[in-house]
Formats: sequence, structure tokens, C-alpha cells
Amino acid sequence: MGSIFAHRLSNLPGLYAVIGDPIAHSMSPNIHNALFENLNIDAKYEAIQIAKGQLREEIPSLLGRGCRGFNVTIPHKVDIISLLDELDPLAERIGAVNTVLVNNHKLIGYNTDGPGFLESLKQFDKLNINDAKVLIIGSGGAARAIVMTLAMNGGAKLTIANRTLSKAQELLMHSKTSGRAITLDEAESCLAQYDVIINTTSIGMSPQRDKTPLKLQNVKKDAYVCDIIYNPLQTLLLEEAKAKGCYVQNGVPMFIRQAALAFKLWTGRNPDLNQMNNIVYQNMLKK
Ligand code: NAP
Repeated sequence: MGSIFAHRLSNLPGLYAVIGDPIAHSMSPNIHNALFENLNIDAKYEAIQIAKGQLREEIPSLLGRGCRGFNVTIPHKVDIISLLDELDPLAERIGAVNTVLVNNHKLIGYNTDGPGFLESLKQFDKLNINDAKVLIIGSGGAARAIVMTLAMNGGAKLTIANRTLSKAQELLMHSKTSGRAITLDEAESCLAQYDVIINTTSIGMSPQRDKTPLKLQNVKKDAYVCDIIYNPLQTLLLEEAKAKGCYVQNGVPMFIRQAALAFKLWTGRNPDLNQMNNIVYQNMLKK
């Protein structure tokens, strides 16, 4: 780590951004710009396309324009770490950053995806996550954020199921929890054990909208089934879980909470989650 860009930072007011590739589809500018307007904050938020391998060339010009913070998405969540001055302990454990704060000419990296997911579970009134048996399906970047956050939060008993078992085993080892890593077939057959089931794979999104990561025939009737996909708003997995009588949650609550946590880091203000939720639904219904 260690920023080579600090001398280029400027004190111009109010620019925030999301960097990624592709980035044109991002809803983050709609959300953050509406929040700035609502809270009378003189700032704007832009989506900036930066190709993989171009961070070192492109970040200085963003900082030179007075950028005070930015979100980081695919493919830069890991690569950005080498350009930071400081890394929050949770982001360090996750090994990926989705939010950068520019503070006193320093770049500080955070990961708000996992905490955003954890916060979203509060929507389930009766769920005590610290007491729950949790099945995480998938072992990619989003799974990593959720597993590390749940592990640091303590309490929950974690099982990770993945198509590639070795990735689930590696993630479990890294989380330092005494859970299990299993195949999708094993998860399917012992599904009745789990209070909370979280899909973090991309199965359910286009072009796999007509698929589920596993069959739900053994799910408990009162299980909590979360799919972190938000496009479509209701995946086939959630549709089937609902039909089985489970409590369900799509990816919108996680998405808006990770954005709210980033907004709080940058501005010190708590944004209106209802406003954020409405913006996401308006955008999704236009698609
Ligand atoms: P990723 O790093 O590419 O991981 C993808 C995961 O899906 C891996 O575990 C992969 O298994 C599994 N997978 C993919 N295709 C599969 C298939 N055909 N059969 C079985 N498993 C399959 O992706 P990610 O960044 O973690 O993102 C995953 C999803 O989360 C995306 O849909 C993304 O939009 C969503 N997401 C939502 C939020 C939110 O705020 N709601 C935030 C972040 C991500 P292998 O290891 O075997 O390849």
C-alpha cells in the first residue's frame, strides 16, 4: 500500500464517483445525486469507466478534480488496495474495497457490502442472526464480503456451498470459523438444517433467470431465504421460496444499505433509506 497520488489531491468541492467497467448501467449516480439534493449538499456523483489495469493512470485525474470519495466496482475491488494509504480492518479481511474516502490527502479503503447485507437482515423482525444456522451459496467476491462480515460479527454458524468446492473450502479457512464447506448437491439434501439461506451466485440473473442455484424441496417452511441479486427484483429462487412459505428478501435492501454506509462515511449524514429504495424500484421498473 502507500499512495503516490497524495500530492495531486485538490480542495475543490464536492465530487464523488463510482469507478468500474462496465459502469453505464450503475444506479449509484441516481441514488447519491438524489440524496445530495435532498440533504442540500453541494456535490455531484458521476459514473466513471476505468478499464482493468488503468487505475494507476486514471485515479490521479479523478483526485485532481477534487474527488472526496468514490465507490469501486468490478473489476477494481481488489486492485484498488495497492493504491490506498489506509485500509479498514474488515476490508482487509475481505480482501476487497468498494468504498474509498479521501481524507486529509489520504485514500482510505472500506468494504460496505458485507455490513450492508448484515444491516439488511434487520428487516426480518424475528431473526436473530447470531443464533442462526446460515447457508451461504457461492464463494465469489460478494460471498467473501458476507462471510467475513458474519464471521467478524460472531455467533452465526456458517456453511458455505459452492459449485467449485475448493473455493468454498478456501473461503471457510480464511474466515477462521468452524463451519463447513460443501457441494451444492450436499446443500440441497441437508437444506432443512438451515435457518437462513443466502444466494450470492449470479444464478437467477440474465441469462440464467430460469435457473436456481439449488432445489428447495427440503427447505424449512419458516426459513429466511435471501438472494442478493436485485435484477430481476424477484429471482426464481425467491419465487419458489415464497411458495414454500419462507420469508424472502431480494438484493435491494443490501444494495441500498451498502450505498447508505458509503454516503455516511463521506458526508457524516444518515440518508433516507425509503428514498433510496424508491429510486431503485423506479429505475428497475423502467427497465
Ligand atoms: P463472482 O465473484 O463472479 O462469484 C460468482 C459465484 O457464482 C461463484 O461462487 C460461482 O461459482 C457462482 N456461479 C456462477 N455461475 C454459476 C453456475 N452456472 N452454477 C453454479 N455456480 C455458479 O460474483 P460476485 O461479485 O460475488 O457477484 C455475485 C452476485 O451478487 C451477482 O449477481 C451480483 O450482481 C450480486 N451482488 C449484489 C450486491 C448487492 O448489493 N445486492 C452486491 C454485490 C454483488 P464458482 O466458484 O464455481 O465459479
